[in-house]
Amino acid sequence: IDVQCLDFCLLRWLRVERADLYAALLVLSALVAAVIAVVAWLRRTAPGAIPLTILALAMVWWAMTYALHWLSPHQPKPFFWLDATYLGVVTAPTALFSLTLQITHRGHWLKRRVIILLLIEPLLSLALLWTDPWHGWFFGGQRPLGSNLIYQGGFWFYTNIFYSYGLILLSLIFLITQFAQMSGLLRSQTGVILLGAILPVMVNLVSLLGFHPLPDLDLTPVVFVFSSLIFAYGLFHHGLLLIIPVARSVLIESMRDGVLVLDRQNRVVDYNPATRALLGTSGQISYGLPIREWLPQLANIETKESGRLLIPAANGEQRTVEWNTVLLSNDKRQPIGRLVVFRDLTDLEQAYIALHELNERLQAQLEENKVLQEQLREHALRDPLTGLYNRRFLEEALPRELARAVRLSYNISFVMLDIDQFKSFNDTYGHEAGDKLLQAMGKVLTTYTRADDIACRLGGEEFLVVMPNITGDTAFQRAEQLRRAFEEISLTYHSLCLNAKISLGVALFPQHGKTPAELLRAADWALYDAKQRGGNCVVVYGK
Ligand code: GH3
Ligand code: MG
Ligand code: MG
Repeated sequence: IDVQCLDFCLLRWLRVERADLYAALLVLSALVAAVIAVVAWLRRTAPGAIPLTILALAMVWWAMTYALHWLSPHQPKPFFWLDATYLGVVTAPTALFSLTLQITHRGHWLKRRVIILLLIEPLLSLALLWTDPWHGWFFGGQRPLGSNLIYQGGFWFYTNIFYSYGLILLSLIFLITQFAQMSGLLRSQTGVILLGAILPVMVNLVSLLGFHPLPDLDLTPVVFVFSSLIFAYGLFHHGLLLIIPVARSVLIESMRDGVLVLDRQNRVVDYNPATRALLGTSGQISYGLPIREWLPQLANIETKESGRLLIPAANGEQRTVEWNTVLLSNDKRQPIGRLVVFRDLTDLEQAYIALHELNERLQAQLEENKVLQEQLREHALRDPLTGLYNRRFLEEALPRELARAVRLSYNISFVMLDIDQFKSFNDTYGHEAGDKLLQAMGKVLTTYTRADDIACRLGGEEFLVVMPNITGDTAFQRAEQLRRAFEEISLTYHSLCLNAKISLGVALFPQHGKTPAELLRAADWALYDAKQRGGNCVVVYGK
C-alpha cells in the first residue's frame, strides 16, 4: 500500500491540511506532558521527581515548537522553530539519564561536577546549532530548505547523536537491569519509566533508519503522548514518586538507625546505609530480595510490629538490634509496603549489664561489710583470750535477760567463778601458763553451758555464767559440775602436769537482787564466802 496515498486519503477524509493534523497531534502531546510536569513538580521532594519534571518540560517544549514549525514553517525565518525544538531535543536525554540514576539508587552520582559535565555537550550543541550559518559544523550545509527532518549534518550533528544515544542506552541498561532484578512495587515503577522512555527512542530509531509512516514528520514528539500517559499511570497507580521518597531523603541516608522499605510481598525495595552497617553481617542484602531470605528472623513480619534480632558481629560477639514496623499506604489508603526501622541496642544493653554487675558487686560488698561489721561487733563483745563474752556484752545483755525473765516469770541464776590462788599459780609457772589455764577455763565454760546461758569473763581470772530459767538447786548442781570439771583438768605445760581449782558463788534472780548490780554484788559475796570457806567449793548467796 502506498503510504503517501493512505496519508492523502486520511487527510481528505478528515478535511484538514496535513500540517494542521500534525500540529494538533503535537499540541496534544505537549498538553499531556505538561500535566506530567505539574504532577512531578508537586512531588518534587521524591527522588526522580525533578528530572522527571525536566524531562516532561523538554517534551512539552519539543512538541510545542515542532507544532509551531508545522503551523508556520518559515516564520519568523526558515528553520526558526525547528532550531527551537533542539532545546528540548538536547535536554531530554540528559533528564532521562538523571531520572534513571535517581530511581536506580544511583542518585549520589549526581554531584554538582557531574551535572556540569553532563550539561556541557547539550549547551555546546545549542550554541553550535544556532551559530551554524557561520561555521556549518552542525548541519554541514546538508539541510535542504523546506525539510522538516534532519538525518544528516556536520560532525557535531553526529557527536550530538552519539552523546544522546549514549546516555539513552546507559539509562536503558540501568533500567532494564533494575527491572530484571527487582520484584514487586519497584519493578513495576521501573517498568513504567522504562516503557515511557523506550517508546520515543524506538520511534526515533525507526525514523532515523528511514521509515516514515507519516511523511516528513518526526514521530518522536508525537509518541510523547503515550510516554506521558505511561508516566501518569505510573504516578497514579504504582505509587511512583510516592514510596521511594519515604526512604530516600538525606535524613534517612545519614541516620544511625537502619531504615528498610519493603513492598507488599515483603521484598526489599530500599534501605539506607545504616541498615547495611547494622545488619550487614547477617548476609548480603539486595533490592528485590524477600526479607525472609535475608533475615529469616523477620519471616513473620506481617504478624508482628516489633521485636529484637541477635546479629553476629564481626568481632565474634552478638549485637542486639530492635526493629519496629510502620505500614505504608498510598493516597487511597491501600497498603503499598512496610517501613522497618532498626535500632542497635547493644551499647544500651551493655551499659545495662555493666550497671547490673556493678550493682551486684556493690550488693556483695555490702553483704561482706555486714559480715565484717558483725565480726567487729563480736570482737568488741568477746574476750580475745578465752573467746567468752566480755563485761561490755554482759552490761548490754543483762537488762534484756532480766526483762524477759520477768515477762515469762522464770528465775535466773548467776554463777560467779574465780580461780583459787591464781596469783601464786602465775608466780610459780609463769604468766603464759596462767593464760593457758584461763583458756582451759574458757573451754570448760563453753562445754558445760547451754545455748541460752551466757558465759563471760569479767576480768582477770573472774568469770560469770548467767543461767536463765533455772531453779536454785539446779544452779547449785551445775556450779558443782563446773567446779569438778575444772578440778579434773590437767594442763600439760613444759612437761609439767598442772591443775587448779575454782571457787563459785551463786545468786538468784529475783530472790537476791532486782538489778544487775545487786545480783553481781550478791554473787560476789557468795564467791567471797566460798573463798572464806577454803576455796574449791560452791556457795549460794545467803546459805
Ligand atoms: P584467791 O584464791 O583469793 O582468788 O587468790 P588469787 O591469787 O587468785 O587472787 P587475786 O585476785 O589477788 O589474783 C589474781 C591474779 O590474776 C593477779 C594477776 O597476776 C592474775 N591475772 C589477772 N589477769 C591475768 C591474765 O590475763 N593472765 C594471767 N596469766 N594472769 C592474770
Ligand atoms: Mg583468784
Ligand atoms: Mg581474783
